[in-house]
Parts: sequence; C-alpha cells; structure tokens
Amino acid sequence: MAEKWRNWARQQSCSPTRVERPASEEQLSEALARAARDGLRVRPVGSGHSFTDTCLTDGVMVDQSGMGRVLDVDRATGLVRVEAGIKLHRLTAELHRHGLALENQGDIDTQSLAGAMATATHGTGERFPNLSANVVGCRLVTATGEVVEIDEASDPDAWRAARVSLGALGVISEYTLRCVPAFRIHRVDELRPVGEVLADLDALVATYDHFEVMALPHTDQVLTYASRRTDRPAAPPGRVSAWWNDDVLSNAGLGAACHLGRLFPRAVPGIARAVTGAVGRYEQLDDSHRVYAHRRRVRFTEMEYAIPRVHAAEALERVRALITDRRLPVLFPIELRFTAPDDAFLSTAYGRDTAYLAVHQVVRAEYEAFFRAVEAIMDEYGGRPHWGKRHFQTSGTLAPRYPGWQEFQAVRARLDPDGVFTNDYLARVLGPVGAAPARPRTGRADRP
Ligand SMILES: Cc1cc2nc3c(=O)[nH]c(=O)nc-3n(C[C@H](O)[C@H](O)[C@H](O)COP(=O)(O)OP(=O)(O)OC[C@H]3O[C@@H](n4cnc5c(N)ncnc54)[C@H](O)[C@@H]3O)c2cc1C
Repeated sequence: MAEKWRNWARQQSCSPTRVERPASEEQLSEALARAARDGLRVRPVGSGHSFTDTCLTDGVMVDQSGMGRVLDVDRATGLVRVEAGIKLHRLTAELHRHGLALENQGDIDTQSLAGAMATATHGTGERFPNLSANVVGCRLVTATGEVVEIDEASDPDAWRAARVSLGALGVISEYTLRCVPAFRIHRVDELRPVGEVLADLDALVATYDHFEVMALPHTDQVLTYASRRTDRPAAPPGRVSAWWNDDVLSNAGLGAACHLGRLFPRAVPGIARAVTGAVGRYEQLDDSHRVYAHRRRVRFTEMEYAIPRVHAAEALERVRALITDRRLPVLFPIELRFTAPDDAFLSTAYGRDTAYLAVHQVVRAEYEAFFRAVEAIMDEYGGRPHWGKRHFQTSGTLAPRYPGWQEFQAVRARLDPDGVFTNDYLARVLGPVGAAPARPRTGRADRP
C-alpha cells in the first residue's frame, strides 16, 4: 500500500508511488535514475515544515533524513561541508563543538538544511541576509542521476538559482556553508506599547543585532525580542522561568486560548487581552543556537510576506486595523522581522532591505479570508510570499516581483529540461519549464 505523507501542520498530504530514503549521494543518484526509468516525477522533502503543497507528489518522494552528516569542517576559514538532509539543530550542535555557528537562524531548528535553503528561510537582523546567502557551493543530483557541482566561480547563474531553488532544479545532496565563530546572545523579551515601538522602529532595528516585533492582536501592545551579541558568560534562564515562558505561555496557554477562541470566536478580543496580561519580561543569555530556536507545539498555518523595509510600520498598522475592524478571531501575534538584501534569484529579499510580516491561524480555524485580505495589503507593497508559507500568487503575479526571474527559469530549463521535479505547486508558482513538455503523470496526489 502507498505510504501516506503529511506536513507538520497536517494540512497537506499525498501518497507517493514510492518514497526513496538514500543514505548517500550514490544511493540518491541511483534512486533518481530509477525514477527516470519508470517515467516518474520526483519531489525532494525535508522535514515537512512548509505550509504549502510544495512537497506533494504522486511520483517519487526523496526523503534525505538518512543524509545528515557533517563531512568536513575548516575552522580557520569557517567553511563546512555537510550533507543536505541534516536537521538544523544537529548541524548547529556540531558546529558549536567545533567553535562555529550559523550567522543567523529562524525561530525553530527542526527543518532540514536543504528545506530551509530551498524556501529562503530567514531569521531577523538588519545586517544579516537569509540563511541561503551563506551557501558557498553545493552538489546537485539531476533527473538522470548525474551529479553537478555548483559554485559561484564555475557557474554563477546556477549558484544564484540553487541557493533558493524550491526543489525545482534537482535534489541537492551536499552544501558548503560559510560559518562564523561561535557567539552568545543576550535576548530580552518584553511588552511595549505599539505606538512607541513603531515610532522608533528604525532606531530599534539598528540598535540591536536581532530585533523582532510580535504585535498582539486586539490590544495596543507588542512583544519585542531584542538581542545583542555578547562576550558575557552564559546565564540561561531558571527552570521555572523557562517552563513558564516556553511550556505554559508559548505553548499550553496559547493552545488553550486558541481552543477557546475556536469555540467562542466573539470572545477572542477578550481572550487576547487576558493572554497579553499574562506576558512578562523574559531574558536569555546563551550560545546563539540555544537562543534563536524555540519549540512550537501548537499547530498553526501561516502566511509571510517580504516587503521593502521602508513600509514595515505602515503595513503592520494596516494588518492590525484589519483584525480589529473586522473583529477577526485571531490570537497569534503578527510577526515583523528584518533582513539584509541578497542576490539569489528567488530570494524573497532579493535586492532590497526587507521586512517580513507574518500572520498565523491555528489549525482547524478558518484562515483563507483573513490571509487573502492580508495578501491584498502586501500586494500594494510588491510583497513576495515566503515560498514555504501559504499564499495565493501565481507565476504571472510573481514574475514581475523578481528581477532575476528569467535567469532562474533559464537555469531550471537547463538542469531539469523535462520538468521531472515539477508538481502542482511549482506549476502554479513557476509555470511550465521553458523546454520540453512535462512527463505524463501517474496516480494522483491527495490534497485537502
Ligand atoms: C513552526 C514553524 C516555524 C517556522 N519558522 C520559520 C522562520 O523562523 N523563518 C522562516 O523563514 N521560515 C520558518 N518556517 C518555514 C520553514 O523554515 C520552511 O518552510 C522550510 O522550507 C521548512 O524546511 P523543511 O526541512 O521542513 O522543508 P520542507 O517543507 O520539507 O521542504 C521545503 C522545500 O525544500 C525542498 N527540498 C527539500 N530537500 C531538498 C533537497 N535536498 N534539494 C532540493 N530541494 C529540497 C522541497 O522540495 C520543498 O520545496 C517555519 C515553519 C514552521 C512549521
């Protein structure tokens, strides 16, 4: 019987013809050659943390959980070779043992490295680009099983395409990453009035190495996460304080509030104010990888847009007003983060100082009308949707927002001329591969 695959949020599922689990690049290559012989399409999958249908396939799913080794560490240069299926938490723990770290991270570390790169996963901090900007080179296995080495010197266009690839070019087996010396972070989470924070936003973003705003719906408060890099010795929070913040407030409390909110949507503004009242100041001073990432036990779905940073405060105010004016039953904070520009063709931060604005809704609650209304606002700012998060764009609306769109498509046509790595999501957001028509499909992917 076909194996059923589901994403983290359990809202996307499919039954691939087969799931391949290679333990080496050689096995990966054989698996792709087998798929080619059988005329099947292929999708690589990481840890399924994307909210979109990006991983779904009725052909061959390639799960690289068995390819998670660190292959080589050069402490002097900071260059690290690593298999693409490694989970971020394992990678950062190993880097730490070698006195190294990733330059920046997002708010969880359960993704695979390849999955995080493929969708331009990011953290926050105006000096730091998305994770994929630190890819120096990679090895990619094409639909025929051939291994291609890609770096800036040998093939600059392929390198700029492969850093954020959506899995549309082939399966990446290995990365060479630029890492930095290990460092510690002092982070303070506290409530502040929204007006005060937005009036001072540019200064706050410039003052802190990593600054993030979590606007609490139906209130005039935001929770800010303000982090500075420091040489002070680690002083992790006490167990009670960590339990209250991580287990009770961020997970059990939020989960209970969302459950109540689903049962009594009209009570959501009151619930939101009660939750806000329970939030206190929280401090962490620890190694970077321990501070960046948190556990997320309440399952939700999410939309996130990259917009020019200059519009950040206005965009946040408009989304806050949308929720308040329509009394939308939303309890998850609206998240605002900041990154530096980069030059990967499909990076959501391509060529511009970027603010990322994200909205969330707990699973099983209605999200579409809310997300579409937010998207309409983001469209006005030329917003680019996070490739792993929900959106309603198509290749027609996306192409004009990416100056490197044609260059990406040329690399795609060169590396995957038959569209073997395409699925419904890629057909929607990237359109057809420029060259030969895609292969005939077999079976059907089941989607909710
Ligand atoms: C709780 C939660 C928190 C999150 N926090 C953040 C955050 O802070 N910042 C942020 O930017 N995003 C965040 N995300 C989104 C997440 O980082 C992205 O969706 C990421 O792509 C997930 O990685 P994954 O390993 O689960 O990849 P998957 O979702 O499994 O796959 C993502 C894409 O990668 C492709 N892919 C996987 N492996 C390969 C390979 N070897 N070669 C080529 N392509 C491949 C897949 O085909 C697919 O297109 C969060 C998601 C969740 C659920």
